[in-house]
Amino acid sequence: MTLRPMLLELISKGLTSPPYTFEYYMNVAYAFNRDRGNCRICREPIWPGDLQVHHLNPKLPTEQVNKVSNLASLHKECHRYLHHPGEIPFKWDETGKATKKLFQWREKL
Ligand SMILES: [Zn+2]
Repeated sequence: MTLRPMLLELISKGLTSPPYTFEYYMNVAYAFNRDRGNCRICREPIWPGDLQVHHLNPKLPTEQVNKVSNLASLHKECHRYLHHPGEIPFKWDETGKATKKLFQWREKL
């Protein structure tokens, strides 16, 4: 396994700072594995380059905020919708499940 060049640069320059600590970068892989490579909002597969990892409760203290249980794998688009309530999400969401999840998680922010 090789570490991504970006991660190596962050670590070597001491640029890992809250909430994006070294633990955050290490636990991103654990969260992605737990989520089986799928987005926790829309449940669709996440392809390389489209992964963002969301803090379910961003207000937790530094020693808790980056626990795997507080991280969720999301598509970039799903993550953007989560943090921008003014945008209209998921025109394709026929069952309404993704939209319901999105609104539930917005309340935790
Ligand atoms: Zn998604």
